Amino acid sequence: MGQASEHRSKPNFFDIDFEKAPFIAIWEITRACDLRCVHCRAEAIPQRDPEELTREQGFALIDELRRFSESAPPLFVITGGDPLKSPYVYDYIRHADQAGLRVAVTPSATGLLTRDAIHRMKEAGLTRMAISLDGSTAEIHDNFRRQPGSYDHTIRAIKDALTEGLTVQINTTISRWNMNDIDALCELMQKLGLTLWAAFFLVPTGRGEEKDEISPQQYEVALQKLYETARKADFDLKTTAAPHYRRIVLQAQRSEGRSADSGTYMRPRQGGGTAADRKPEGGPPAWVLRPMKPGGWARGDASGRAGRGVNDGNGFIFVDHQGYVYPSGFLPLRCGNVKRESIVKIYRENQHLKRMRDFAQLKGKCWACDYRDVCGGARSRAFAVTGDYTASEPYCVYVPPALAHVQGVDWLAPDMLLKDVREYLKPEDLAALERPAAPTGD
Ligand code: SF4
Repeated sequence: MGQASEHRSKPNFFDIDFEKAPFIAIWEITRACDLRCVHCRAEAIPQRDPEELTREQGFALIDELRRFSESAPPLFVITGGDPLKSPYVYDYIRHADQAGLRVAVTPSATGLLTRDAIHRMKEAGLTRMAISLDGSTAEIHDNFRRQPGSYDHTIRAIKDALTEGLTVQINTTISRWNMNDIDALCELMQKLGLTLWAAFFLVPTGRGEEKDEISPQQYEVALQKLYETARKADFDLKTTAAPHYRRIVLQAQRSEGRSADSGTYMRPRQGGGTAADRKPEGGPPAWVLRPMKPGGWARGDASGRAGRGVNDGNGFIFVDHQGYVYPSGFLPLRCGNVKRESIVKIYRENQHLKRMRDFAQLKGKCWACDYRDVCGGARSRAFAVTGDYTASEPYCVYVPPALAHVQGVDWLAPDMLLKDVREYLKPEDLAALERPAAPTGD
């Protein structure tokens, strides 16, 4: 049986330096999938691509991921397509578990996801199963997934995973398809026994289209609802492609008088922040509302949380089925290929990834934002909408204090997303934003 995790010596996730190692590494082992979901990032296909990494190349990739850090290697997520369409999924889980990685998998809810398949994954060393649920009813979810019966498979698989002793993460893509269902979804999540609710916000890439996006104003409403849910819930909550959730939480905490805590993260820093921006060991970041053990460990689960805000290419790396490396699954900018180069070298040295981690390179109002270091906007959505990953987040309505005096500017207009906003700033704000980060001995 796999040793999966909690017994091992526990890494301190808050020590991870995102310049050197990601908190999460995701590998799309196959693009094959029996579903054809409305928003599919991968534009999944029915059959496996002959160019997929071989089993041996997969093992080599896993061994390289382990090299990222002796003390706190990345959380390894096996995704697809549907990972169960690969005959090697159990081998990869076992190899990664034996190498000392924490392993999660994101199977599609189809007839392949049987109790036996879940049992075999658990036996191979799986820690967490992440499964998608996009609507509170079968009708909403199945329409989104374009597959009658998918909702029932999902609910059954969640129960089976919990019975097998796995922790469960539920992934929900928020879009115009389910915006009106968020209240009911929040209620449903309380009943499902999950450990983490990961709310993905649509990025218009793959089969996702900009017309399916909710409006920037609706982002505020949706993120606020998620925060209200997370406050009461027993489970943890994170967002993907909506880092402004962290701003929402910190703003709420400040208005509730807990600003000393949230203020730790709010200094815009060159280089995307330093160790000084992280909370000292012993407590999770302010936007993680669930109690955690020292170092970022959650109760009953080995996957943990990062000590700083994860963003595309910044604490996060994605490898596709052919071995190409991307800042995330939603940012289709090739940064290398693991068949030719080490993932460690690519993550640390690729110029795009280095630039993405340097928030002082941002444009538009994100550059001047007091939440820049903690949020930074979704680089994937900036790229999808403008073609420039350093552009300002196109779906955030927040106007930073340093720009609040400027009248008559639409900060979300296409030209303003790419604008150098220094000309609008008062000298004291400009000086504060351009001040280099203090050395920390990190
Ligand atoms: S302006 Fe940019 S950095 Fe500031 S909260 Fe919005 S998305 Fe985040």
